[in-house]
Amino acid sequence: MFFALGLIGCPLEHSLSPRLHRAALQASGLEGEYELYVVPRLPAGEQEMVRMLERLRRGEMQGINVTIPHKQAVMRWLDDLTPTAQAIGAVNTIYRRDGQLLGDNTDAAGFLADLEAGLGLTAVDQDKDRHALVLGAGGAARSVAFALLQTGWRVTIARRSVANSQWVGFGGPNARLRFVSMHDLAVESYDPLVRLIVNATPVGMWPEVQGNPWPVGEPFPAMAQVYDLVYNPAETALVRAARSVGLQAMNGLGMLVEQAALAFERWTGLAAPRTAMAAAVEEVGR
Ligand code: NAP
Repeated sequence: MFFALGLIGCPLEHSLSPRLHRAALQASGLEGEYELYVVPRLPAGEQEMVRMLERLRRGEMQGINVTIPHKQAVMRWLDDLTPTAQAIGAVNTIYRRDGQLLGDNTDAAGFLADLEAGLGLTAVDQDKDRHALVLGAGGAARSVAFALLQTGWRVTIARRSVANSQWVGFGGPNARLRFVSMHDLAVESYDPLVRLIVNATPVGMWPEVQGNPWPVGEPFPAMAQVYDLVYNPAETALVRAARSVGLQAMNGLGMLVEQAALAFERWTGLAAPRTAMAAAVEEVGR
């Protein structure tokens, strides 16, 4: 069987997904390809989006990844969503089951796995009152917040724009979730229970490598660890600043690899060759 896989989004030129999935196909001994399909923001890209999804429905493709700006917009064309994708409200992986198009989200599980592997923060620890500060309120922040809430964290989202109706009801009625303005982040950081800071904004990403989403001049919470979803550059300004005061900090490359590994498993039914996938993007993380 030939595995025709690909990514839809815009822009795509810096995507590492082809490298990850081509390495996975090769290491698994599968014939296939992973291509980039530029689908412009809707409504301009609507025809192209529908055409791609029809290819998947007809079995001409076996799997599609979705990235900015379509993770939410694509949902209206899918027949069903996994409970995770439904709860997060965003899809990054699509596949066919019994002739139906199913939308899934592997970002949350990818984040959790890497958080555990990289920072040693165990998956479920409902007994501890652990507070996480998530910077940003976009699609990635939703996956991160979902993952953290599910594993017993109290979560504060720091956002720069106040209006964001897409968060209404997120995490259910008992979700330990709050929102603050980016300007009030410093106040939050004095909570001694803050154990984790996650950057889910693009701030610090190449080429604007000097950008740091943490408020200028504010000390980090003393007991916090830092996870930056940005991985290019490998050591972002945020990660560097956290390390310079002795905090453990890491970038999001491992999350990228793990979300891809989980997508590959959905599409092929095989265990993903994670070592080969990580090796394919290794130099980006240095
Ligand atoms: P998104 O949906 O566009 O959301 C970005 C969020 O960051 C929004 O809340 C936005 O605020 C905020 N933001 C943007 N610029 C900002 C600034 N200068 N100051 C403060 N806040 C700012 O993007 P996303 O999909 O969530 O992705 C966010 C980042 O995570 C990207 O760098 C992406 O590459 C990375 N990511 C990494 C992985 C991984 O596997 N490592 C996975 C997913 C995403 P507004 O709403 O006000 O614009």
